[in-house]
Amino acid sequence: MVSSNDVRRLFLQAVLSRRVMTREVALKLWEKCIGAVKAANDALEIQFTGDRNSWDEFVTKINDELNLMNLEFAQMSDEITGKEMCALVNRKGDEVAQLATEYTALEIAYFKAVLHQIITATNDAFCISSMAALRETNNLNMSKSQAEVVLSSFVAKGWLVKSRRGRYSLSLRTLMELLPYLKSTYPNNLLECTICMEVVTRGISCYTKNCQTHLHAHCSDKYRRRSQNCPTCQANWSTEANAKKLDRIGEVAYKEGQDAHRRRPFQERSDSEDEDEEDAEAETSQPSQSQPSQASQPTRTQTRKNKKKAVREEDMDIDDEDEPEPEPPRTQKRKSRR
Ligand SMILES: [Zn+2]
Ligand SMILES: [Zn+2]
Repeated sequence: MVSSNDVRRLFLQAVLSRRVMTREVALKLWEKCIGAVKAANDALEIQFTGDRNSWDEFVTKINDELNLMNLEFAQMSDEITGKEMCALVNRKGDEVAQLATEYTALEIAYFKAVLHQIITATNDAFCISSMAALRETNNLNMSKSQAEVVLSSFVAKGWLVKSRRGRYSLSLRTLMELLPYLKSTYPNNLLECTICMEVVTRGISCYTKNCQTHLHAHCSDKYRRRSQNCPTCQANWSTEANAKKLDRIGEVAYKEGQDAHRRRPFQERSDSEDEDEEDAEAETSQPSQSQPSQASQPTRTQTRKNKKKAVREEDMDIDDEDEPEPEPPRTQKRKSRR
């Protein structure tokens, strides 16, 4: 007998085969799932309204269930497009275990080293050149050509974004899936958007000394339609001169030559420069603790079993589930700022 639980089950099956989607697509999937379940049992009192409250309620219920498996149906705005995105993400621990099913321990160590340089880039540029990325192999038993291959793979699978200028930065996938790791490893390096409270790696900062206002480009666009004053210190951003003074976050903040030297070395503290900040990377030096994440496996197996039940995915014209689709290469270009 189908019940309203089947809506959540069907929805998760659909989500599993897509991985990342816009909120619009997620809402459409939800609607289809409700339709399919109602078609199988007309007596069920469920209805698709599509309003924010019922969506939030639905997501909360799903997450209560997923929580047991350390999974989460997470929502976050894409910093590049400003679109609200949803994805099923692994929330287990604060390691980068999510990469372990696809990459070797060495590749993961390399990924962490590159991540470290991106996050600690000076001027809040949150990006590094290919050269700087390749230089990270110096501390690892990895050749430059191996690194080139694995870097392209990080980009193709959506773990890093490569800009037109060839600079690497954090992707939506990394920000969503590795958030616990990023937050615990870099509590002092990550910036938080004053409006939406999510991590900002592309946007603006207020120029007032000690003002902690940082905004995503899309949050700033929306906010500045309503107000021209800094939400924290009330500085007046409306004049052209003041607007120009706003500090940039992300690749636009990159200054030529800034990554000729690493600001803070990864996994080797001896030759560290001036700053003596705690570097949480140092102690996690070896990737042996990166356990392959099994969390997503049982759900896929379950997907198969559930196919036998009354309502099937096919009834809803939702993706089939043979192989998880490879992440489409991220070809998005940075939106030029107005
Ligand atoms: Zn924001
Ligand atoms: Zn301010």
